Amino acid sequence: MANPHPQVYLGDRIVAAEAATVGVASSAVLYGLSVYTVFPVHVAGAARTAFRLDDHFRRLEESCKIIGIDRFAAEWDYARFSAAVVELIARNAPTEDVFVRATVHVVESIPGTRVRGCAIQVSMFVYDAVPIVPQDGMRLKSSPWRRIPDNAIPSRAKVNGAYVNSVLAKQDAIDSGYDDCVFLDGNGHVCELSAANIFLVRNGTLITPDVSCDILDGINRRTVLTLAAEDGIPVVERTVDLTELYIADEVFVTGTSAGAAPVLEVDGRTVADGRPGPISQALRKRHADALRTDVLHGWVTPLG
Ligand code: PMP
Repeated sequence: MANPHPQVYLGDRIVAAEAATVGVASSAVLYGLSVYTVFPVHVAGAARTAFRLDDHFRRLEESCKIIGIDRFAAEWDYARFSAAVVELIARNAPTEDVFVRATVHVVESIPGTRVRGCAIQVSMFVYDAVPIVPQDGMRLKSSPWRRIPDNAIPSRAKVNGAYVNSVLAKQDAIDSGYDDCVFLDGNGHVCELSAANIFLVRNGTLITPDVSCDILDGINRRTVLTLAAEDGIPVVERTVDLTELYIADEVFVTGTSAGAAPVLEVDGRTVADGRPGPISQALRKRHADALRTDVLHGWVTPLG
């Protein structure tokens, strides 16, 4: 378990982590009515950079828009957001790479099950960048829990309450001796992991479920798709069957907290020869490099 670093952003200021609380009667607590994002900050001595900060902000805005949290667009813009990140990182002065979790909480007290016009508070905290899945080869289990469909709680919006779905599936995988789950939709098609996107390689083509497959439109997913296309790897976004994972040449996952990490087993079937494949390895390296320095795409933002 990771602890937040001592200084936390809440509302419009930095406070001590112990004082950064949200009320028990808020919709955030009552209904899990908050949306969030997590982005990495790379630390190299005094230089600190955030990866795709503007894209994370945009996704947070979009999550609010989908759910109807209208006060965020009224009160926040990218300039305010990035200034808060700069201040938070300066105050904590991390010496190693960290993750930042930024959340928009609906803090209205007992408003009932509605959202429009309700008061919000933004929180941001920093924690150690510890991956949530093994980086040298993970084992996955297809979940008995179905992914929440777009017309129930949309995966496209990163809603805190929706993560009960992820908790059920991840815990089932852990209880069964696996590292993480593969979520399937109601028709048995592959969606994603509990908190990462999934890719497979067949005959040299990179394949991943498209964004209308009840997945989060992951920022690292987009990154890997761009890098693969630049490297001349054919890329296809489409519906994926579970059994395609069983016979894939390579399987890997992407996410801020997952990295770009290989999968070596799915439901007791070894992926290919049980070793990370060449395309997974090459993209893992390209992705790791992009997190640190990137001149081509403008993905890296200096923080002060
Ligand atoms: N899917 C889910 C359900 C997630 O929670 C995450 C982590 N944010 C991802 C995919 C990967 O998204 P990203 O690359 O933006 O971290």
